[in-house]
Amino acid sequence: MASARVGDDVYGEDPTVTELEQYSAELMGKEAGLFGPSGTQTNLIAMLTHCTRGDEYIVGQNAHTFKYEGGGAAVLGGIQPNPLAMGVDGTLQLNDIVAAIKPDDIHFPKTRLVCLENTHAGMPLPHYYAQEINQLCKEYDLASHLDGARIFNAAVFGNYEPPDIVKDFDSVSFCLSKGLGAPIGSVLIGDEGFIEAGRRWRKVLGGGMRQAGIIAAAGLYALKNNIDSLAYDHEKASEVFSALVARFGANNVRLATNMLHLEIDKELHASFAAHLEKGGVKVGRPRWVMHKDISQTGVDKIKQLISSFK
Ligand SMILES: *Cc1c(COP(=O)(O)O)cnc(C)c1O
Repeated sequence: MASARVGDDVYGEDPTVTELEQYSAELMGKEAGLFGPSGTQTNLIAMLTHCTRGDEYIVGQNAHTFKYEGGGAAVLGGIQPNPLAMGVDGTLQLNDIVAAIKPDDIHFPKTRLVCLENTHAGMPLPHYYAQEINQLCKEYDLASHLDGARIFNAAVFGNYEPPDIVKDFDSVSFCLSKGLGAPIGSVLIGDEGFIEAGRRWRKVLGGGMRQAGIIAAAGLYALKNNIDSLAYDHEKASEVFSALVARFGANNVRLATNMLHLEIDKELHASFAAHLEKGGVKVGRPRWVMHKDISQTGVDKIKQLISSFK
């Protein structure tokens, strides 16, 4: 980061940002990339670019792009969400989607986009499902966007090359700042025309950054060095999962790639968390996320603390 070559990225003159955008596009098998400060912003740029005021996007009720982004598409874009029931693996029923698509009628918003997520709370989207969505979108002339904040966890877990799991989507946003370990940043990828239009929206949203090469350098490092090692995060989660199952029973613990969900009652969790904290481990509720800065020694300590909880 300290030795990154920089320029003014608002004018497209930061060589490190440009390299990150091109590297990302090539890695994912798309034409072009756009660096942004957060996944919330790159998802919003995608929605603003695919849709216009009075359009509608179809999305899962628990999806980040519906529930956790402050309603940005509606607030800032006049784009109405149409939230549907969502499977734990991030899927929406295809017949629910078809039923939600509005006919061309002045009473209705125009259905324009389907937004999906991979992974969803750690769960990879089934591979066949992306193809089905692609067919459906073609048939109904809809665009598709994938919130792939943790797309590399899905790729590594399922042993897919990244282009294989994103080829069915028109655009994809992914985070450099989750398991990949960079401090800041997300990248939006898609075809040239889409990214060019997105660049305009990024400026509107205040996401055009000047000497952003210092943070893009960390993103490039993460993409070049930290993808394969996501497999260790999955192994660490699986080890801790076994210890939690031994202590709390299989019905109360869920494992999904690098995430664990511990569904025990509040009081039991509070005394468990206090026990862990005494041993130097602080946890949230109900989700635990494994990442590259948790060492094997750390995992061993967590396992030991779980089994010593009375
Ligand atoms: C983290 C995350 C995002 C983006 O969040 P930012 O904090 O804005 O970078 C989007 N979708 C999902 C599923 C996420 O986990």
